[in-house]
Amino acid sequence: MGVPCDLHVHTRFSADSRAEMCDVCRQAIACGLTEIAFTEHVDLMPADAGYGHFRPGAFMAEVNRCRTCFGDQLRILAGVEVGEPHRFPAEVKALLESYPFDLVIGSLHWVGEEPIFLPPAYYDRRPPAQAFGDYFAELAVLCQAGGFDVLGHLDVIKRYCPDPAYEVWQYEQAIRLALQALVEHGIALEINTSTLCRLLAQSSPDETVVRWYREMGGERLTFGSDAHAPERLTAGWEHAVRLARQTGFSHWTSFRGRSPHDLPLENGL
Ligand SMILES: [Zn+2]
Ligand SMILES: [Zn+2]
Repeated sequence: MGVPCDLHVHTRFSADSRAEMCDVCRQAIACGLTEIAFTEHVDLMPADAGYGHFRPGAFMAEVNRCRTCFGDQLRILAGVEVGEPHRFPAEVKALLESYPFDLVIGSLHWVGEEPIFLPPAYYDRRPPAQAFGDYFAELAVLCQAGGFDVLGHLDVIKRYCPDPAYEVWQYEQAIRLALQALVEHGIALEINTSTLCRLLAQSSPDETVVRWYREMGGERLTFGSDAHAPERLTAGWEHAVRLARQTGFSHWTSFRGRSPHDLPLENGL
């Protein structure tokens, strides 16, 4: 498979997962991973169902317990997936200064006061082109603000929008603004495979955007299943690795203490 590391995984420390971290570690070892990053939701929008759920002290204690149990077989990274980091810079800074996280994913789940993941409200108020356009305009602002290590699921809105007629090039200008900011900040682009199991058969993002990122000088790719249950680990990995190779990448990126390091894409897991 080429990448023995899944850098986007949730457990019960996220409001939308019931997975036990030790079960996920066992599954990771069983499917041949040597490295895993737990990236729990940090939802700072007060109206988000996950608001206030994340307990960083308890999370770190569980990470350390799993490192003790599985550390000889699995490298366990402590991470967070922060929603809308550009809107909560003080809260994010305080969190990241308080705990030794290995990586921080920045993600867009809300546009303005509306969540994009709970159809139909956001989509009822906008024709599809505007739903996508507003999302990518906000994404560009998020990326320009920086302050995180990996951009999560760049075009995840395609998973939720009721209109399936999504053509990425229609939003090229805003997406390129986002990608340019990633390149300038040295932020990695994630290939998120959670969208592959839906009707779309596309990762987020898929080939066109990954190619733009590469052409614009982007050098860091991560691979994330966004698993919320152990059995979803590494789902869609063949697609993701093939995509990375097709777009000219020979390496993938991992993190230690928020410092990136590159590893070669290899044959076999
Ligand atoms: Zn997300
Ligand atoms: Zn996630």
